[in-house]
Amino acid sequence: MNAKEIKKLFPILDQQVNGNPLVYLDSAATSQKPIQVIEKLDDYYRRYNSNVHRGVHTLGTIATDEYEGAREKVRAFLNADEVAEIVFTRGTTTALNLVAQSYGNDHVSEGDEIVITPMEHHSNIIPWQQLAKRKGAVLKYIPLQADGTIDLVDVEKTITERTKIVSVMHVSNVLGTINPISDIAKIAHKNGAIMAVDGAQSAPHIEVDIKELGCDFFAFSGHKMGGPTGIGALYGRKELLEKMEPIDFGGEMIDFVGLHDSTWKELPWKFEGGTPIIAGAIGFGAAIDFVSDLGFNEIEQHEKELVDYSFERLADLKDLTIFGPKERAGVVTFQLGDVHPHDVATVLDAEGIAVRAGHHCAQPLMKWLNVVATARASYYVYNTKEDIDALANGLVKAKEYFGDVFS
Ligand code: PMP
Repeated sequence: MNAKEIKKLFPILDQQVNGNPLVYLDSAATSQKPIQVIEKLDDYYRRYNSNVHRGVHTLGTIATDEYEGAREKVRAFLNADEVAEIVFTRGTTTALNLVAQSYGNDHVSEGDEIVITPMEHHSNIIPWQQLAKRKGAVLKYIPLQADGTIDLVDVEKTITERTKIVSVMHVSNVLGTINPISDIAKIAHKNGAIMAVDGAQSAPHIEVDIKELGCDFFAFSGHKMGGPTGIGALYGRKELLEKMEPIDFGGEMIDFVGLHDSTWKELPWKFEGGTPIIAGAIGFGAAIDFVSDLGFNEIEQHEKELVDYSFERLADLKDLTIFGPKERAGVVTFQLGDVHPHDVATVLDAEGIAVRAGHHCAQPLMKWLNVVATARASYYVYNTKEDIDALANGLVKAKEYFGDVFS
């Protein structure tokens, strides 16, 4: 299937915005949803909406089978060994907070080190900042190269025997950088640290195999890969998860409750307190089927073509700076002369083109780039070269508003 055919599977994309056909270039924030996912959610609510893991009635059994079936899809998608290693969460943010609050609380002490990078999303900074503050630990940053990549020599220098946790994003939501996770994981392990990965921007776009990555934890979100909002997953190595304490206590996660003491269910349910995100997980499973059927060879190849074409088309624009390395996932973050990114995004919006403007939840990275904000176009399976032509033409239109920043 080519991108134009794929686009037809996303009903939302067939509309006019501000009198122009919608060109959706904000998939790094959230992707659109294919009809298969929308129908799966609709089917759940119409036919078998029920709570899971309770009672024996028929609808509850269907819901439980579908919910646990989705967990199996996540397991297979990541190439994990067991469904016990897959915890459903609200998304990447809650998955990383679970690791920081549970594993981190028990394994990080005063003077220990937590190592991250300045390119991280706030979701992979603040949980560690908070943990470091609680414990009197040191939060260290692997420095970045000028092009926004990581040099393993710096990784070797930053991670030491005091390091307990290394947490790095697989793919940057701003620069598109694809980080060498398996090499970083080896260095972490050599020093006795564990490796956590923020996979929010990799799982939707490139093949993820947690065994090849060699990581201990991997967090990602369904809504960036065609799934609903409010659902994601944490993969954790079983030996680690088994020893970890839950952080959400209440219904669903218990085995026995007494007046003064309680025990927990086995993995992974001890981490899923309260009524789970049932429809979300089932829709997430449908999204995993959707992207897996398209195939990651095709997805990666398609996004590479879009990135190459973006460089080609945008290269003509004077004063346009694109941040990040040439080798990247489908994200193009740019600055147009002195024009504020919000103004650029507003002009593009008037043309029906949706791009993101702001700090992209990466304020330390903005500081490193020496900008307050940027504009970002981010691609997914439904984007076409025509979308990038529209972006380039929209940027030329911006000239009418903001002066002669083009050749
Ligand atoms: N990490 C990265 C790299 C992201 O791009 C995002 C989403 N913008 C997140 C973490 C947080 O994901 P969520 O909001 O789905 O928890």
